[in-house]
Formats: sequence, C-alpha cells, structure tokens
Amino acid sequence: MNKKYIILLIIMFLVTGCATIYNPATQRNELILIDTGSEVSLGKAMSKQINSEYKISKDPAWNERLNRVGQQVAASSDRQDLKYQFFVIEDNDLNAFALPGGFIYVNSAVLKEASDDELACVLAHEIGHVAARHSVKRLQLALGYQIVMSLAFGKSSAVDLSRAINVVFNVVSLGYSREDERLADRLAVKYAYKSRYRPEAMISFFNKLKDQSQEKGQGYNLVFLSSHPPVDERINNIKKEISLIGKQ
Ligand SMILES: [Zn+2]
Repeated sequence: MNKKYIILLIIMFLVTGCATIYNPATQRNELILIDTGSEVSLGKAMSKQINSEYKISKDPAWNERLNRVGQQVAASSDRQDLKYQFFVIEDNDLNAFALPGGFIYVNSAVLKEASDDELACVLAHEIGHVAARHSVKRLQLALGYQIVMSLAFGKSSAVDLSRAINVVFNVVSLGYSREDERLADRLAVKYAYKSRYRPEAMISFFNKLKDQSQEKGQGYNLVFLSSHPPVDERINNIKKEISLIGKQ
C-alpha cells in the first residue's frame, strides 16, 4: 500500500464521520473524526510499512510470551472494540510504541531485559495510548483542516503527501504530549493491576531505562523516555497511583 493511498484513507475518514463520544479511558466526551473501522485500516496500512522497514522477529518463544502477556493486559483495557496485535522488532534499545488501531510494537531488548510484570506494564502503557485514542487525536490536530482540504481537492504536491505521512509516523512514535504520557502511565497502573500483574514493575523498568541511558551516554535518545515527563516525576506519579488502588 503506498503513501498516497494512506493519505486518501485519512482524508476519507476526516470528511465522513463526526461524532462526540464518551471515552472511558480519559473519562471525557471527545470529538473523534476517525471512527474505529477507519482507525484500524489506517493502523493496518502503517503496520505493513513498519513491517517492511524493520526486522520483525519470528522467534516463537518471544512471540508467544509477548502475545500471552499482551492479550492478558489488553483484556483489561477500557477499549474493547479493537483486536490488539503485538510485534517484536529486533533492536537493542529498550523501546515500545503503538500505532492507531491497536498494533503494538516492542523491541527485542525489552523481552530480553524485562520480567513478565515489567513487560506487562510497558504494554499496559501503550494500550493506554490506544484506549485514550491519543494517536487519533494527535493525527486530527497535526493534519489540520487546510492540509486535509488541499489534499482532498488534489492541490497538494507529492512532497506535501510524503510530508503528511511523515507527520503521521512522527505523531505516533514521538509526538505525544506530556499530559498524554501522564495519562498513559496512570492507565498502565490500572490495566496492569486489573490483569493481575504487579504495577510496581513499571518503576523497576524505569530504573532499567535510566541505566541504559546512562550507559550509552549523553545525547542518546530513548524514545520511551524522550518527550515524556522526567523519569523521576513519572516514578513518583506511579507510586501515588499505586497507593490509590482500591480507594477510587
Ligand atoms: Zn508513551
């Protein structure tokens, strides 16, 4: 599937539906222009592109473990209108990310370094982004009315099209706001606990991330940490959230 087709899909979604829905993950009414079916089609197109650009592991033990933990956590998600799918990228950095539509990617380093509880917390954080529809909302904002309309009327150049698709990838891999990250961490505690994993494992995973950052030296960019609130603040927020379990 080429980039033009993906852009066309995005435009179709933006000009067709328009509805305010209650989102249990954020506990707010939200304007979602991209409905679930369209979100899944978009995620699928992006997933195909990722799978052709990165080395996806076929290791049966890793994939079995990722799926087992991932599906258990996904069953506790506020969002059950999607089929969550999990992929291992062969990469030595501790990182994970989610595409629209429930396509979740974890680097092999996480599978090597993390316990099942830590893996569950990382996945719960990414599932939190999906449940809160963070990438969909960022996409709606990033593309904006003007770009969408110029693309819709065929007035944009090939350069505009490829710029737009890059925006989409940047949004899902780097572009969440700090507020979105705080919510994903809160949801991570909730989903990990509900699916019978230890939410405290998020803290030990953050410590592993800190160690890897320090080992690799200054300027080394761990996506799971960058653009996020400072890691010590995240650890404090998670401790607070864990202390509230059962009291809300
Ligand atoms: Zn995040």
